[in-house]
Amino acid sequence: MTDLYRVSVTELVQFSCRSGDLPTGLQVSSGPTASEGQKAHRKLQKRRPKGVETEVAVTQTLAGLQISGRIDVVYPGQLPPIIEEIKSTHVSVDKLDHGQQQLHWSQAKVYGYCYAMQYDLEQVAIQVVWYNTLEDTEHSAQQIMSRAELATFAEQVVRRYLDWMRLLDAHREKARHTARELRFPYGEFRPGQRRMAESVYRVIRDGGNLLAEAPTGTGKTMSVLFPAVKAIGANKIDKILYLTAKRTTRELAQIAIQKMVDQGLVLTYVILQAKKNTCFCLREDKSSEPAPFQLGDPAPSLDESACAYCKGFFDRLPEAREALLKAGHLTQEVIERYARDFQLCPFELALQMLHWVDIAVCDYNYVYDPLVRLAYFDESRERMVALVDESHNLPDRARSMYSGALSSRLPAATTGFSRKDLLGRRVQALARVLRRSRSDEDASEVVLAEPDNTVYNACQRVTEVISEFSEKGGRLTPEGLEWLKTLYRYLKIHELFAPSHRTIWTRQDRHTEVELFCCDATRWLQVLNEKIHAKVFFSATLSPPAFYSHRLGAMSDGAMTDDCPPHWPKWLALDATFPAENQGVFVLPFIDLRWHARARFESRIVQLIDILRTSKAGHYLVFFPSYGFMNQIHALWQQYRPDIPVVVQTTDSKDTEREAFLAHFSAGHPPTLGFAIIGGVFAEGVDFEGDRLSGAMILGVGLPQFNLRQSLLKAEFEQQGLPGFDYAYRYPAMTRVLQTAGRVIRSETDRGVVVLVDSRFNHAEYRTRFPNHWQPELCAQESAFANALAAFWRGS
Ligand code: SF4
Repeated sequence: MTDLYRVSVTELVQFSCRSGDLPTGLQVSSGPTASEGQKAHRKLQKRRPKGVETEVAVTQTLAGLQISGRIDVVYPGQLPPIIEEIKSTHVSVDKLDHGQQQLHWSQAKVYGYCYAMQYDLEQVAIQVVWYNTLEDTEHSAQQIMSRAELATFAEQVVRRYLDWMRLLDAHREKARHTARELRFPYGEFRPGQRRMAESVYRVIRDGGNLLAEAPTGTGKTMSVLFPAVKAIGANKIDKILYLTAKRTTRELAQIAIQKMVDQGLVLTYVILQAKKNTCFCLREDKSSEPAPFQLGDPAPSLDESACAYCKGFFDRLPEAREALLKAGHLTQEVIERYARDFQLCPFELALQMLHWVDIAVCDYNYVYDPLVRLAYFDESRERMVALVDESHNLPDRARSMYSGALSSRLPAATTGFSRKDLLGRRVQALARVLRRSRSDEDASEVVLAEPDNTVYNACQRVTEVISEFSEKGGRLTPEGLEWLKTLYRYLKIHELFAPSHRTIWTRQDRHTEVELFCCDATRWLQVLNEKIHAKVFFSATLSPPAFYSHRLGAMSDGAMTDDCPPHWPKWLALDATFPAENQGVFVLPFIDLRWHARARFESRIVQLIDILRTSKAGHYLVFFPSYGFMNQIHALWQQYRPDIPVVVQTTDSKDTEREAFLAHFSAGHPPTLGFAIIGGVFAEGVDFEGDRLSGAMILGVGLPQFNLRQSLLKAEFEQQGLPGFDYAYRYPAMTRVLQTAGRVIRSETDRGVVVLVDSRFNHAEYRTRFPNHWQPELCAQESAFANALAAFWRGS
C-alpha cells in the first residue's frame, strides 16, 4: 500500500465532485477551445489590480493525500484574502450546466482550503469568475468560508478519492503478485520470441525506445505483452498501453491477454472500440449489429442530444466504476453489460475506465491525435509503456492526424445549418471566404508555406455562435456535427501549423478547398513519445531502422549497442521463424512496370498469372499497384481465360464483401485466383495460414503515385537533409511490398511462392531491402519462371 498519494486539485475534483450529464452533440463543441481558455486566463490575470498574485502554487497533505495546484489569482491584501478561480465560457452563467458550476465551486473551495492551511488563515473568500470570451464580460460570485468549513468540504472530497485509491491499490497488490507468478502461457518460447521478450523487458526497465522487427510467426503480440506484464509484477511500470491501427490487431491483443488471464493473471484491461461499434442508440435506432470498425469509415449517424445514457452519467459513474474494477476484464461485452445495468453510455464508460485499468488496448489516435488525445495522458503520473503494434503504419497515420482541410462546398442541406439563424449565416460566410480566396490565381493548385488567417477568423466566427445556437434549442443533424468536427480539426491544425506544413489551395468547379497538409509529423510524435516512460515499436517491416527511428519520433534515447549513434533507439531484428527453403522467391526483371511502359507488357502479365496459377493447384493472389491497372488486367484476363473466374477487390469493399472475398481463400474451397491492391486490406493484417494461400504475385515496386502531395513530402525530407525520394517513395513502397509478400508464409510448416514482377526488383536500391532470409531466384523469361516454379513445388 502507498503511504502518500499525490494528486492535482483539478484531477481530485474531477474525480470526486463531477456530477450531472455527459456533454454531447453541440455541447461538446460549444465552449472555448483550450488555447482560447489559456488566453482568457492570461488576459484576466493582467487586468487584476496591482498587489494581486497570480498562479500561486499551493500544496497540502490531508489524510495521506498530497494535493497540489496553482491558484489563478489571490488577493492577499483583502480581508479575508480572496481566492479566485477563472473559468472561460461562451454563454452567460445562468445557461451553464448546474453540474459544471458545482465543479467550478468545488475546485475553488479545494484551493481555498489549501491556501487557508498554508497561510494559517481563519477565513477565505472563495470567488469564481466566469469570463465570457465572446462578449468580454465577467460574472463573479463569492462566498466567505471559514477554515473549518473548507476543511470539512476538503475531507469529504479527499475521502471519496482515497477510498477509490485504496480499492485500486488492493487490486494492484494482487495484480502484481499474479504477474510475478505468471509463467509464459505457451510453455515454450518460439524461436526469437525469448530474445524479443528480453529486449522488451530491458527497455521497460530502463526507459526509452525499442524498435523491433520480427517476422511473421514470431508471436509478436505475446512477445511484447508478456514482458510488459512481468514489468508490472516487478513494479517497473503501472500501465500498459497497447496501441493498434486495426481492429484485427486489437482482437489479437485481447486473445493474448485472455490467455494470461486463463493462467491466473489478475490484471484489469479495457479494449476501446470505436464509438459507432459501442453506442447503444445506434443499435436501438437501426435494430442492427454494430458495423465493424474500419479506419476512414464515415462517422455514425446518431443524435446524441436525445440519448438517455448521457443523462446523469456522472451521478451514476462512481458506483459503476467500482463494480467494473471488481469485474476486471473489460471486454466490450462486460462494458456493455454494466453500461446497461447502470444506464450509462458504454463508449464513455470504457474511456473513463482507461484511467484505472492495468492494460488499455486502443487505437493510435487516443495517444497521438491532437483532437482525440485524452487529457489523462498529460496529467497522469503513472509510469507507462506503449506497445505500438504494426508501427510502420504510424508515421502516415500521424501525418493525417496533423492535417486538416475545408471546402467551400458545404455538406448537403440536411445538416441543420439554416440561413435563418446566425450559425447558418456564419457557415455561409465561411464558404464565401473560401470561394473568394485565391480566386485570382490561374493555377488550379497553389502551395503556400503559411496558413491563411482570413479563413481561420471566419472559422472562429462560426464557433463563436455555436453556444448561442445550442442555447436557443438549435439542433444539427449528424452530418452537420461531422462537418463541425472537420472545422475544429482545421482550427487546431492552423494553431499547430509548423514549418513542415504546407497550405494547399485547390480550385475545381467554382469551389475551393484549403488543406493544411502535414509533410512530417515526427516532431509531435517525438514530444508525445517522450511523455511515456518506455515505447516498443514493433512490426514485421521496420527497415531501414534509421528511416523508421526518425519517422516514429524515436531518435532521442540512449543506445543499447556500441555501434549505434547515441541518439538512436534500441534496435532488434529477428530472423525468420520458418526454413528459408519453404518460400520460393522469384524475381521477373523482364517486365517493365514503370507507368509509361507497363501497357506494353499487359498480355505477358496475363500469361505469367496463368503460369503461376497452373504451377500447382491452390489459392493465388495477384497484387497490383492501382485499381486502374488491376481492372485493365482483369478485363484482359476475362478474354484470355473466361473459364477461370477471378475474385477482385473493390474500391470501397464493405465488411461483408471483405469476408466474402476471404471466404474464397479458406481451406477446402476450390482453388481461387484473386486480384487485390498492394498495401490494401488483403495485403496487411490478414492471415492466410496453411493452404489458404499458395502464392502471391506482386506487380511493381508499390511506389505511391507521383503527385503534388508526394512531391511536397520529398521536398520536405530533402530540406531536412534526408534522402527525399527514399523517404517519400521508396522506403514506404517497399514496406508495402514486404507486408504483401508476408501473407504467404504464416507458420513454420507453410510452403509458398512470392513472385516479384518488375525490372526494378533487380536494382540494388530495391534488392537491398529484401529480408535476409529470402533466397531470390532471377528468371530471365516466362519459360525459366515456369521451370523454377515446377522445381520448387517438386521439392515439397
Ligand atoms: S450511447 Fe451512443 S448516443 Fe448515447 S452518448 Fe453514448 S455514443 Fe452517444
